[in-house]
Amino acid sequence: MNEREKIQENLKAIGQALPQGVRLCAVTKYHTVEETQDVIDCGVTILGENKVQDLLKKMEVITAPVDWHFIGHLQTNKVKYLIGRVALIESVDSLKVLKKIQTESAKHDVVTPVLIQYNLTGEDQKYGFDEDQTRDWLSAMADCPNVRVRGIMGMGPHTEDDAQIRKVFHRLHTIYDKISSSTDQDNVAMQILSMGMSHDYPIAVEEGANLVRIGSKIFS
Ligand SMILES: *Cc1c(COP(=O)(O)O)cnc(C)c1O
Repeated sequence: MNEREKIQENLKAIGQALPQGVRLCAVTKYHTVEETQDVIDCGVTILGENKVQDLLKKMEVITAPVDWHFIGHLQTNKVKYLIGRVALIESVDSLKVLKKIQTESAKHDVVTPVLIQYNLTGEDQKYGFDEDQTRDWLSAMADCPNVRVRGIMGMGPHTEDDAQIRKVFHRLHTIYDKISSSTDQDNVAMQILSMGMSHDYPIAVEEGANLVRIGSKIFS
């Protein structure tokens, strides 16, 4: 099997494992333009990158009409490069970044769709909001008319223990529902619950994810 056929096989298997209504964000970070183009040629329409520089480089040469999602930690000084370019910033992990996205979006007179990233794993190398910071970003959104929160994103803990992973995904879903039923702000709508990666996406789907972010499984 050549590279292209392998990607095609893997995507087929992933597609069969995803129920209707669960979308795939193919994470192409660490992979070349050619491999990324292979993924697109297999019918994938949402691509995820975690480095601004890599994303911009790929956007320059890949002309297919795909939705680019930014999924990595975003430094405030790089926010400006994404505004008006990406379909979704999945990784808003601080009020500082949120406010910067507002400022830059207002400058360009656009509304930028984002997800709020939560970190419920207790692993401190990961970025993201804590459950009890929900009201902080919600109240900040009152001053962010150029940002639209479309849901939340989170990762499972680094463990082999499925029960631990499930617990975190379950809590993310609970937070998602709670925000959904408690806010009536125009620029906050819970539509996207982004959780699950190559090793844990079946659990995430069982716990209600409607967007999964899968990388290594596509290329392995
Ligand atoms: C790399 C990455 C993924 C994909 O991880 P895989 O294990 O390769 O599937 C998903 N989400 C984020 C935020 C990532 O950085």
